[in-house]
Amino acid sequence: MRIPSVNELKEKFHQLFPSYPLSYFTFPARKVAQIIRERWQKGEISELSEPFLESLIRKTFEDYETPHLKRVINATGIVIHTNLGRAPLSEKVLSEIITIGKYYSNLEYDLKEGKRGSRYVHVEELLKEITSAEGALVVNNNAAAVLISLNTLAFEKEVIVSRGELIEIGGSFRIPEVMKWAGSILKEVGTTNKTHLYDYERAISDKTALFLKVHKSNYEIVGFTEEVSAEELVNLAKRYNLLVMEDLGSGCFIDFSKYGLKKEPTVQETLKAGVDLVTFSGDKLLGGPQAGIILGKRELIEKIRKNPLNRAIRIDKLTLAGLEATLRLYRDENLAIKYIPVLSFILAPKEKLKKKAQKLYRLLKGLNLNEIEFKIVETIGKTGGGALPTLELPSYSVIAYSSKLSPSQLQKYLRAHKIPIITRIEEDKMVLDVRCLFDEDLEEIKRAFQNLKNEYFSR
Ligand SMILES: *Cc1c(COP(=O)(O)O)cnc(C)c1O
Repeated sequence: MRIPSVNELKEKFHQLFPSYPLSYFTFPARKVAQIIRERWQKGEISELSEPFLESLIRKTFEDYETPHLKRVINATGIVIHTNLGRAPLSEKVLSEIITIGKYYSNLEYDLKEGKRGSRYVHVEELLKEITSAEGALVVNNNAAAVLISLNTLAFEKEVIVSRGELIEIGGSFRIPEVMKWAGSILKEVGTTNKTHLYDYERAISDKTALFLKVHKSNYEIVGFTEEVSAEELVNLAKRYNLLVMEDLGSGCFIDFSKYGLKKEPTVQETLKAGVDLVTFSGDKLLGGPQAGIILGKRELIEKIRKNPLNRAIRIDKLTLAGLEATLRLYRDENLAIKYIPVLSFILAPKEKLKKKAQKLYRLLKGLNLNEIEFKIVETIGKTGGGALPTLELPSYSVIAYSSKLSPSQLQKYLRAHKIPIITRIEEDKMVLDVRCLFDEDLEEIKRAFQNLKNEYFSR
């Protein structure tokens, strides 16, 4: 078999897509030549028919033209899913990002004085207003916030941490390692399940800089446990002239227990307990863009701001625009819940979820897909994102099952949809949890099942 040359293939691409210049096809043409060669070597093809070549060219070009980073549909029921991009943003927030991205802005320009200004002022006052913190600084993400805080306040000094809080998050953020790269010396105290105030006190030496508390984020220790509260640590720290820092991880401004969910300490409460510095993410429970937020005592924040490392982890202007817009919504809790998708998904009333599940069910039933059964069931979702780790969110799902396709085949098919649909499998059934579905997602799921019908079950 003769494999067409790259130039010949480029010509063929050009015939099918004449609006692009010939030179545009070099890379996809090489790709097609490579696919043909590989298939031929494996013995999968022995001759090259025109229809086969044309469909290969079309498919390759479609892949080439599709952005690699793309929207997916989250039918997992996990609201803050790190693999799926954590917090989706509302139009209100996105429109600010578009404006700041499209035009010039006063990012680092003081409009009153007509001279150089600071990028941090745009959210500093807002953060202080919402949380009553003395000082505020924002950086690229929470990992960076922890790194720069430790590096500034405890370089070559000892940091005392409970063994119950030496966490790893998402496979790469490990407290002991971050501490090492910050130049701090880790001094672990207590045991996995129990740490007492005297454990912290006995560990103090003349090299100690601070006590660090870390939100356990993705697990909980249950049973015979004891940990020291922020208040107790603050009192102890005062006696020895030390600092207390808390990595809240998710960090939320809203008291979820008001809405019938489990109590998660708010950022405001943590600051009120007297903690000198708190750090948390912008894109977990807060529901904004990726950022790391550092709040606390004014003089500590000033020191951190001046650390040269700050330049390397600084927040980008688009993020800043999105963060400011998100924070403004928190001036009124009802606005926040209405317009921040993470909050509205977590606090969605069961009745509303039931209606959404019924709507999805009706759409799918309407396809008359005899080979697939659909059913509405009650399921349990999670907040995810290292927040409320054991909290269960009662939810509704549509399950889909077929004697012709296994749950994992079904799952794989939906994942290959133009807008990939990410589901989970529970008790050997594929589950579409409706909690994190947007209205427009429902029609798209229907389209995916319609394609499935056309491809598998129409002959
Ligand atoms: C998620 C988390 C981090 C990392 O935050 P990023 O914003 O992902 O960098 C650090 N500490 C805790 C406790 C967390 O939960």
